[in-house]
Amino acid sequence: MDVVIVGAGPAGLTLGVDLARRGVQALIVEREETLFPGSRGKGVQPRTQEVFADLGVLDAVRAAGGPYPPRLLWQDGEPLGTRPMFEDVPADEGTPYTEPLMVAQWRTQEVLYARLTELGGRVAFGREVTGLAQDSRGVRVDFADGTALRAAYAVAADGGRSAVRRALGVGMTGETVDPAPFLVADVRLKGLDRDHWHTFPGPDGTGLALCPLAGTDDFQLQARLPATAPSDLSLDGVRALVAAYTHLDAPAVTELRWASGFRPRAALADRFRAGRVLLAGDAAHVHSPAGGQGLNTSVQDAYNLGWKLDAVLRGAAPETLLDTYEEERRANAAAMLDLTTGVHRGEVRRGRATVQLGLGYRESSLSVDTRGGAGGLRAGDRAPDGTVAGVRLFDAFRGPHWTLLGATVPGLRSLPAAPASYGEGVFLVRPDGYVGWAGGTTEGLREYAERTGARTAA
Ligand SMILES: Cc1cc2nc3c(=O)[nH]c(=O)nc-3n(C[C@H](O)[C@H](O)[C@H](O)COP(=O)(O)OP(=O)(O)OC[C@H]3O[C@@H](n4cnc5c(N)ncnc54)[C@H](O)[C@@H]3O)c2cc1C
Repeated sequence: MDVVIVGAGPAGLTLGVDLARRGVQALIVEREETLFPGSRGKGVQPRTQEVFADLGVLDAVRAAGGPYPPRLLWQDGEPLGTRPMFEDVPADEGTPYTEPLMVAQWRTQEVLYARLTELGGRVAFGREVTGLAQDSRGVRVDFADGTALRAAYAVAADGGRSAVRRALGVGMTGETVDPAPFLVADVRLKGLDRDHWHTFPGPDGTGLALCPLAGTDDFQLQARLPATAPSDLSLDGVRALVAAYTHLDAPAVTELRWASGFRPRAALADRFRAGRVLLAGDAAHVHSPAGGQGLNTSVQDAYNLGWKLDAVLRGAAPETLLDTYEEERRANAAAMLDLTTGVHRGEVRRGRATVQLGLGYRESSLSVDTRGGAGGLRAGDRAPDGTVAGVRLFDAFRGPHWTLLGATVPGLRSLPAAPASYGEGVFLVRPDGYVGWAGGTTEGLREYAERTGARTAA
């Protein structure tokens, strides 16, 4: 076994899909008997839509959800007016997707799982990991039933309370974002239209919101409760909240499908790599759900890690390539923690800052730009879409390979020109859609390709 992935959440499933399409032998092990049933991370950001397009699941994810409705504010049983959920981010040739999609997390996971099995990947359900040990040749993962499994690498994608992270002794440093208790639930109800995200402010910063979940018959209920509120996740408890904060009566809630309570925290794992074990998703960072970044950041962790694990396992790149996973994704997660805390506290608006299109790796040791201090597209930036000689770049990038723009080099998939929007130069685009290397000529490209496994992956 090459890789054992602990946890079949969005991070584990995305990594599973990416490794399966690369032919890496991987197994996802999941504690529960089924996939997670709740809607919690329901915002699929534009950058994640690009990732999903590459992994072949965007159409299915789109069909499983829909656009965000405007927010409708209610007071004393009267609708006060609507306002859009997000500031407008205009689409252009380089950024075809700019609007977040609303998809219940359980549906996103179903789509990823279907893709995984289509590619021959597998989740072993009912397998709880309790411990782990590693040596220079591999990792042994121990299960609650006394059995064990060996693999060359393990990935902790087992969520915020990660047992793997604890077994490794990797610390998690953070702070409370909001001392108030929160409740999130999926409910069926009568008496509200499905065209608005209904928001009911309460006293002292408390409140309740009911959002129709596109692609389902459910509403997602979110509530910020008084510090002393008892945590009641039962149907009666949820009915009482709806009756207290809205003009609806308790029986308007006809069904409770899932509920969870939490207090928003922002915390970052001290390391994302410990030898042969990599941490991804909530196992590596937890934060406020405000701004809808959690699931998205988890998917992108996996997308950053997949091609690196593949290159190292194939012997196409040195093992140190895996260090760049921590280098790139830990810095990214730290910035995202600040962003979500800002959105939670009302200091940052959802929109340009939250679509994740501006994120990149300019500071990374994997980003090499030999052109001096020129402006425009730089190594480390997200590689925008565009058209060259009738070829759409996102079509050319789709798949597990690197793509060279502006030159032809044997062993690298090449397009002899880069679009004018890229500016002058030669650009080597990583499998995860970032410019890895940029230069005025191809000088230095060969060394870079060897260090990163680019050449043999073509
Ligand atoms: C209440 C709540 C509301 C949220 N709301 C939003 C939101 O509105 N927008 C947003 O973007 N994000 C939101 N999030 C965050 C989002 O849901 C997470 O960021 C996302 O699920 C992280 O994915 P993951 O794969 O890293 O972890 P998870 O989804 O937590 O998946 C981890 C998986 O590992 C399994 N597992 C755990 N321990 C073990 C073990 N020992 N052995 C084997 N398997 C194990 C679990 O069963 C689970 O299936 C919310 C989170 C919570 C808790």
